[in-house]
Amino acid sequence: MEATYTTGIIYKIYDIEDPTQYYIGSTIQTLEKRFSLHKYTSVKADSKFYQYVRRVGWDRMKIDVIFHPEEPVTRRDLFKLEGDYQLEQNPPLNDNIAGAKIRIGHTKYCKLAYQKNSALREKQLKRQAHIDTCEVCHRQYQHGGKTGHIRTKFHQQALKEQLDIMINEQQN
Ligand SMILES: [Zn+2]
Repeated sequence: MEATYTTGIIYKIYDIEDPTQYYIGSTIQTLEKRFSLHKYTSVKADSKFYQYVRRVGWDRMKIDVIFHPEEPVTRRDLFKLEGDYQLEQNPPLNDNIAGAKIRIGHTKYCKLAYQKNSALREKQLKRQAHIDTCEVCHRQYQHGGKTGHIRTKFHQQALKEQLDIMINEQQN
């Protein structure tokens, strides 16, 4: 039988100056302990969350409980709950939806979590590969490849159309 915990919580760590930037996690430790552990891990680990905190500093970050289940929960239950909150709230600083890897026994949940995770991973890979998006035609090109991109037919056509619109607007 799996161990259950009465101390399980879902928490949120957010930027006091910009609360739209937050991370959702779960723990069976106290808030204080979990917060210190994040601080410790953030020195080296390379997640979106830690990169963000290294940029703005821990002084701007605050941790709060968002849910404390009344009944004792297993670690697995808690991962599922954490994942539910992440799927619902879309926290911008999470890289992953909890529970997908450990195959929590809810098919629909796992499917959602997997889909979400692969979308997140794709975004991450794009960031890493330094893909830029053209402001004119909204196509993507490799960072540093702008010169080549603006010579493409597609870009030239989009540029021409936009110039035509501007000229028309000035004439009318
Ligand atoms: Zn373009």
